[in-house]
Amino acid sequence: MHAMVLNAIGEKLVWTELPDRTPGPGQIRLKVTACGVCRTDLHVVDGELPHPRVPIIPGHEIIGRIDAIGPDVTGLNLGERVGVPWLGHSCGTCPYCRDAHENLCDAPEFTGYTRDGGYATAVIADARFAFPLGEAGEDVALAPLLCAGLIGWRSLVMAGEARRLGLYGFGAAAHIIAQVARWQGREVFAFTQTGDTASQDFARSLGAVWAGGSDERPPEPLDAAILFAPVGALVPAALKAVRKGGRVVCAGIHMSDIPSFPYALLWEERQVLSVANLTRQDGLDFLDLAPRIGIATRTTAYPLHEANRALDDLRHGRFDGAAVLVP
Ligand SMILES: [Zn+2]
Ligand SMILES: [Zn+2]
Repeated sequence: MHAMVLNAIGEKLVWTELPDRTPGPGQIRLKVTACGVCRTDLHVVDGELPHPRVPIIPGHEIIGRIDAIGPDVTGLNLGERVGVPWLGHSCGTCPYCRDAHENLCDAPEFTGYTRDGGYATAVIADARFAFPLGEAGEDVALAPLLCAGLIGWRSLVMAGEARRLGLYGFGAAAHIIAQVARWQGREVFAFTQTGDTASQDFARSLGAVWAGGSDERPPEPLDAAILFAPVGALVPAALKAVRKGGRVVCAGIHMSDIPSFPYALLWEERQVLSVANLTRQDGLDFLDLAPRIGIATRTTAYPLHEANRALDDLRHGRFDGAAVLVP
């Protein structure tokens, strides 16, 4: 197999030939057909997440076909198309796992962060954490659903019943969740970097009723806001934009420090909360819903060996939607 390997934090990924791997008990091997590039991959490469493991193969929006099945796997077949998300394994016995919060597991494994991911021609996955995808939809188009879609979905659920919904940072996750929110009958208000009129136009084309800079106030108070951009200063900005009792959901795994702000911004029962990881139930719920909504992802495909260029383009906002690597 071949992979783009991160050998040391902050270095470029290196195209590497590796021995083929064999799935152990409970595991499957996929021939990777597409792998999305997520902002979290930048945090992995930059060493911004705790306890980084190197060498590591990044990538946790994996689409592939099963080409080997280990012992003790049931319900999956050779040749079947599946998706592998960020949560690669949970212990099943800690208090969080036992309480339907496996996203908060005490001993989790994360694809492309603590176990090898999908920037590769093949990947080994825990069979229990692979989602059967059926045959509808192109591999490249589906890949961003596996994290941008899934974490976005969990964030949207956390936002509650909000009719007027703000999305801060209009990238891969927001462009998917805007479509879901609109399908649910919500009004989407999109916030981008100041002056990024291309992203604002993109948001309007996906049904946003308003789009502007994150330094602007929306024309009406919001019921909730989801922060996809990893910028702590957006927390007080979003609190200013939500009504009494409104909610600000931080969707990212990493964020720059939140500046201090007057208590008055939080008062009147406004809430700030974060979203961590996903549960398998989130995946089942969202991947069941996505085809019915008819989500159209905007993707830019890169050959696998150009993963460094894809990461660089993501870092500098050079495309709308999501980047996807194709082996
Ligand atoms: Zn656990
Ligand atoms: Zn991700």
